[in-house]
Amino acid sequence: MRALVFESPLTMVCREVARPAPAAGEALVRVRYAGICGSEIHAYHGQHAKRVPPAIMGHEVAGVVEALGAGVTGPAPGTRVVVLPQKSCGACHWCTHGQPNLCDRKVMLGEPAWSGGYGEFFATPAGLLHPVADRVADDVATLVEPLAVAVHAVRRAGVGLGDRVLVMGAGAIGLMTVLAARAAGAGTVLATDLFDFNLERARGLGATHTLNARAGGLPERARELGDGRGLDAVFLAADAPGLFDQAVRSTRKQGTITLIAMFPDPRTVDLQTPKAMEHVVRGSLTFTPDDFRVALGLIEAHAATVAACITHRFGLAEGAEAFRLADRRGEDLVRVVLRP
Ligand SMILES: [Zn+2]
Ligand SMILES: [Zn+2]
Repeated sequence: MRALVFESPLTMVCREVARPAPAAGEALVRVRYAGICGSEIHAYHGQHAKRVPPAIMGHEVAGVVEALGAGVTGPAPGTRVVVLPQKSCGACHWCTHGQPNLCDRKVMLGEPAWSGGYGEFFATPAGLLHPVADRVADDVATLVEPLAVAVHAVRRAGVGLGDRVLVMGAGAIGLMTVLAARAAGAGTVLATDLFDFNLERARGLGATHTLNARAGGLPERARELGDGRGLDAVFLAADAPGLFDQAVRSTRKQGTITLIAMFPDPRTVDLQTPKAMEHVVRGSLTFTPDDFRVALGLIEAHAATVAACITHRFGLAEGAEAFRLADRRGEDLVRVVLRP
């Protein structure tokens, strides 16, 4: 089969590789679309601890069941599916306490040990597959995974009815966070980004207010929307120097700051302000099966509006170009998807 192979940093090569065979308990999936995630761009730059070459990446995948391995009864071949791209051991402390996202032996789809969706086929434990409703297009279905990341973060932050929220960064993860926060009951959602194109999509997904970060004035705007106190929950869905300090200055006393983006470079940050304001700073890592189930339901409910987040489609042969484009993060781009 053809696959886009991550051969070394900044080098993606489309070539023939062996077609995987489904082992006992597994299904073989024919890929329809696979998204290029921000984490894959970090890997592309050699900044990801586990996604290292050589690998077939791609963990935001929608496809069709092609064949079943021994002992598997479903989903039946021909079923349109998305995959929960996380294998957990089921035995460690975290797995046995309902937090498989923190599994000590976790493997994500697209790591060297588990070839992902940038090929014509991939094999997966059949239990990780979820059928997708007909009204969700194949490319849109790839957004279930980033939405599950957002659902997990919104749950970590404890966002509830009427809460006032700031989402910093309106790339795919930030946009999905806007949707998840609104679904959780947030009354005010302020989204920021460097690009008006992304902010327009944020409004489409439920942001009540937007601010182009180039214009500045974020902490002032956040305090204004929070009756002079600041906002209840702030999500960092982007990484840039100074962003954490802006988050701190936008958050009310005892408010919550949740870290969703990847932060490969150490930063010098002000710790006295969050200490004195009794802020809660939370990390957030992938999702649980229940987060994924909730995300699938939200995608089905919002299929028409989330479709605006898929902005570019490329064949596998154009994969290297697709990565260069996703890496540049120019105007008018949210999610780039590959089609084998
Ligand atoms: Zn992702
Ligand atoms: Zn485990």
